[in-house]
Amino acid sequence: MNINKNYLNLEDSYLFSNIAKKVAEFTQKNPDKKLIKLGIGDVTLPLAPAVVDAIKKAADEMGVQNTFKGYGPEQGYAFLREAIQSYYLKKKVSIQADEIFISDGAKSDLGNILDIFSQDNMVLVPDPVYPVYVDTNIMAGRKIIYAEANKENGFLPLPDDKIKCDIIYICSPNNPTGAVYTKDGLKKWVEYAHKNDAVILFDAAYECFIKSDELPSSIYEIDGAKNCAIEFCSFSKTAGFTGTRCGYTVVPKELVKQNCSLNKFWLRRQTTKFNGVPYIVQRAAQAVFSDEGQKQIKENIEYYSQNAKIIADTMDKLGVWYTGGKHSPYIWLKCPNDMKSWEFFDYLLNNIYVVGTPGAGFGNNGEGYFRLTSFGNRENTVEAMQRFLKAFT
Ligand code: PLP
Repeated sequence: MNINKNYLNLEDSYLFSNIAKKVAEFTQKNPDKKLIKLGIGDVTLPLAPAVVDAIKKAADEMGVQNTFKGYGPEQGYAFLREAIQSYYLKKKVSIQADEIFISDGAKSDLGNILDIFSQDNMVLVPDPVYPVYVDTNIMAGRKIIYAEANKENGFLPLPDDKIKCDIIYICSPNNPTGAVYTKDGLKKWVEYAHKNDAVILFDAAYECFIKSDELPSSIYEIDGAKNCAIEFCSFSKTAGFTGTRCGYTVVPKELVKQNCSLNKFWLRRQTTKFNGVPYIVQRAAQAVFSDEGQKQIKENIEYYSQNAKIIADTMDKLGVWYTGGKHSPYIWLKCPNDMKSWEFFDYLLNNIYVVGTPGAGFGNNGEGYFRLTSFGNRENTVEAMQRFLKAFT
């Protein structure tokens, strides 16, 4: 028996446990201070009423002989795949229903997709980064190269022809930086992927925050992307499904590598290792695309977007450099006075009682930066920004 020793190469993630520890210590010493948490990456608004109604209706169906459902199709029910297909059509992207695979969220698929790629692929991951891309590849023993995201490139690295890689991760709008690629930027990555016979894994978990038609919310808005890209999306941030769990992955049929269809490989993988998302949850996700559902989820997204604007406007007033905040729930700011990420964390906690996330926790290039999120409530966001203005003006 041999264990997978690649697990020994994983770095322990102290980011959120360290934050929790520091916050607990502070609260114990200062029980009277009102702490405002702007570090949270989880949504806080409840599910839309249209979604809740769909859940209730589907639960009732499960209790009646004629409408009860057992195992469903592993790749998802047609009603949901067709609803997603129509959603893409509104972006002028045409995909077939059997190119869409329903899952319990983007995180699982981002990890599981690696099953269909050989271990000896070279992987390119931006730094700073959503840690799942790094850890899932380390578990599989793959080599990782980092694409430098920094202030100079607005945290949107472009391909470097000198660097050869096979699997490329792109997240836009980005977590943690909130930065969003333009169509031109994504076009360069698609060209690079074609030139190097690479595959792009495009994480569109935050696409619903994009407000402009000029900015791509799907990689398939770029010509030629269907030959080189897999897209991951989620209902988590779009419709508050972080606890309900549903996402989807698009694997185009045009994506053929070494004479093999990756769509067929992924279908084979899913039908072997996955038994589908609960019927009730898929009905809930379908309701997101109804007229009522769309109206209701847009109100929630707008609420978070307004919070993001309040934070971004405050940084503008203070002359603090940042990315994000406009087409993203994240604001990624340069720590004032050249403070290091954790130094700034301690400063905010102890002086204005605001909690955020130190950028250094997302990679080496995150040092000196800090992530604030707009998923909190309005009153607290406004109060936190008043405290910022007072402390840094
Ligand atoms: N991708 C990014 C960039 C994320 O930030 C997250 C969640 O925070 C996910 C994917 C995972 O989403 P899900 O809840 O669908 O697993």
